[in-house]
Amino acid sequence: MAKSKEQDDLNKAFLESLDEEDPFGLNEDIKILIFKCLDCGKEDEVPEYVVEEFGFDLDENEEVEVVCPFCNGTMRQAKEYPK
Ligand SMILES: [Zn+2]
Repeated sequence: MAKSKEQDDLNKAFLESLDEEDPFGLNEDIKILIFKCLDCGKEDEVPEYVVEEFGFDLDENEEVEVVCPFCNGTMRQAKEYPK
């Protein structure tokens, strides 16, 4: 199937516009997980890819824990998500 030149130009313009809007790929759809501190009760947002790194060598029934930035306590993923 032959591609028309018009179509090619359109695709090129489309790709270029994507590059301009997002030159470093920062607008990728990053899922944010909410973590809650067991010690001080404060919440923090942690990108999912960070959580996956933390959880890489955990057993299935273990939960990812991160250090609380407020009190250096233990944060775990919150069960309830804000809407
Ligand atoms: Zn804390």
